[in-house]
Amino acid sequence: ATNGADGRDARVGPVTPVLTKRWMSPRSWTLKTYEQLEGYTALRKALRAHPDQLIQLVKDSGLRGRGGAGFPAGMKWGFIPQNDGKPHYLVINADEGEPGTCKDVPLMMADPHSLVEGVIITAYAIRSHYAAIYVRGEALHCIRRVHAAVQEAYRAGYLGKDILGSGFDLDVVVHAGAGAYICGEETALLDSLEGKRGQPRLKPPFPATAGLYSAPTVVNNVETIASVPYIVNGGSGWFRTMGTEKSPGPKIYSITGHVERPGQYEAPLGITLRELLKLAGGMKDNIPLKFWTPGGSSTPLLTAEHLDVPLDFEGAAEAGSMLGTTAIQVFNETVSVPWAVMKWTEFYEHESCGKCTPCREGTFWLAQVLQRMLRGEGTPEDVETLLDVCDNILGRSFCALGDGATSPITSAIKYFRHEFLELCEKNQPALAGAQS
Ligand code: NAD
Ligand code: SF4
Repeated sequence: ATNGADGRDARVGPVTPVLTKRWMSPRSWTLKTYEQLEGYTALRKALRAHPDQLIQLVKDSGLRGRGGAGFPAGMKWGFIPQNDGKPHYLVINADEGEPGTCKDVPLMMADPHSLVEGVIITAYAIRSHYAAIYVRGEALHCIRRVHAAVQEAYRAGYLGKDILGSGFDLDVVVHAGAGAYICGEETALLDSLEGKRGQPRLKPPFPATAGLYSAPTVVNNVETIASVPYIVNGGSGWFRTMGTEKSPGPKIYSITGHVERPGQYEAPLGITLRELLKLAGGMKDNIPLKFWTPGGSSTPLLTAEHLDVPLDFEGAAEAGSMLGTTAIQVFNETVSVPWAVMKWTEFYEHESCGKCTPCREGTFWLAQVLQRMLRGEGTPEDVETLLDVCDNILGRSFCALGDGATSPITSAIKYFRHEFLELCEKNQPALAGAQS
């Protein structure tokens, strides 16, 4: 799509070819292509600046974490103690695992050097000489691609000792996860990196104070760090021309499910699903929308009534959901809501790390009750049981996984209670995925 002067495309609404601008170039993942398309120019500029200026630049840009929570990136960097002479670490959370989320893996596959360049600039800004990129274990192709990009960057003098003659040294390690969803939780990820079983730590202290090996550590998502070179080159004012005042910049929205063209769509934060659906070719076979997730299954479901909700951190919250990972899963009218909710709940039950009782036991019982309903053996009281178990998990779990597991259930019952009740009243097994 073409990008108009106001950032809007006359046919499809707002578009922002920033993070994805190289994705369609031949061999876009190579250093050669990256350098031909302005690659590593931001690094040269950044190395001439003072680290504090870079932190201020990112603060001014308003860049918010793209991993789901939206914490201001510049503020997080600013928490790292300066000139303390102690080690600091930068850790990239590339353990993308939230159901429906598939933005970081394509970014790393198509443009790994934008991540590597962002890593070097960020490490310089927070005065770190060691960075780790923790990639989801199942994404072997992606691990290889990022590893190859890091090796190319070493050979070109962008990594290692005295980078580009600046006196700044940085080593980067690409680390493969082992396929546990919980290792995407930043403190479990740090434990995993240290060679321990990946389970969440108590927060606070946050990693910015006591992270990897108890040293001050910035943990940021892939898309967050890949945004940094563009901010260095374009400036904070330019970044703020996209998105909204409180949620500035471009964002990659993953659209999956019942649309004509599922895929990654880059757009300014604040775009609506109505506009995104136009980009994705509309609903598949024109079958109407029934429900959708704005940011993965851990964010409360929304319905066709929410097509005009601005998809930024504030807009999604005002609609009673969360922006999360901008993983938009679209379901049409043929889908049984209780069935979809059961599949997500089985995922959380499987991935619960078992450390705390509300989540470990609660996700087990939620799955049991939903499976019973779907077998046609439920009773109307089961709906209340589900809500009661969710109430005992929400706010009582050790990390965000437990809370996230309740989101699809409570929101589905809020909007589609009748479907759960019908299932119990019919007492017939529901067909997989199809409306009972
Ligand atoms: P959080 O709000 O606890 O923290 C967000 C970030 O800000 C963290 O890096 C944290 O260390 C930092 N932070 C927060 N308060 C701080 C403070 N006072 N001082 C210093 N640092 C502070 O959220 P979270 O539990 O890290 O993440 C939850 C989000 O993860 C959810 O919104 C969900 O959408 C998302 N998620 C993403 C994936 C994925 O695959 N990308 C998977 C599961 C969940
Ligand atoms: Fe583990 Fe779940 Fe407790 Fe998180 S909420 S610590 S995943 S058992």
